Amino acid sequence: MNISPNSVVALTYELHTTTPEGQQVFVEKANEENPLVFLYGAGMMLPKFEEHLANLKEGDEYSFELSATDGYGEIDPGAHVDLPIEMFKDAGEMPNVGDVIPLQDNQGNHFRAGVTGISETIVSVDLNHPMAGKNLIFAGKILVVRAATEEELNHGHAHGVDGHAGH
Ligand SMILES: [Zn+2]
Repeated sequence: MNISPNSVVALTYELHTTTPEGQQVFVEKANEENPLVFLYGAGMMLPKFEEHLANLKEGDEYSFELSATDGYGEIDPGAHVDLPIEMFKDAGEMPNVGDVIPLQDNQGNHFRAGVTGISETIVSVDLNHPMAGKNLIFAGKILVVRAATEEELNHGHAHGVDGHAGH
């Protein structure tokens, strides 16, 4: 079958980003032994990533590039926050510059932020996604396309390549 909403897809991929000089930098990959498995059209993946895979079938190979805008967005220079250092002292764990730390906002949303500076009173963090501002180059092969089970549709995610890894 062809990839369409409510199909479960297993695929391999290699992700590269490009530097401003146009050089490709390897980021991560999933191979045939441990492929990426997801419920297509469930909003788990980047929308443009899914768009490029539409109608592909088992055995098809793909490669495409997403602009930063279609990936994790452009870098927002205003997305910096200064947090009181007491926050970290109370938690008993002082971060270092360069660390990526988990944070939670007032609405209870979890996200990760990179520490860009530490003074005696504040910890400055960058709220941009680590992949913001980068073009994403994906390449790989479609291994499996199957209809989602009722349970997978109810849960809104895939249960492994064969649909039996329930959770
Ligand atoms: Zn589940």
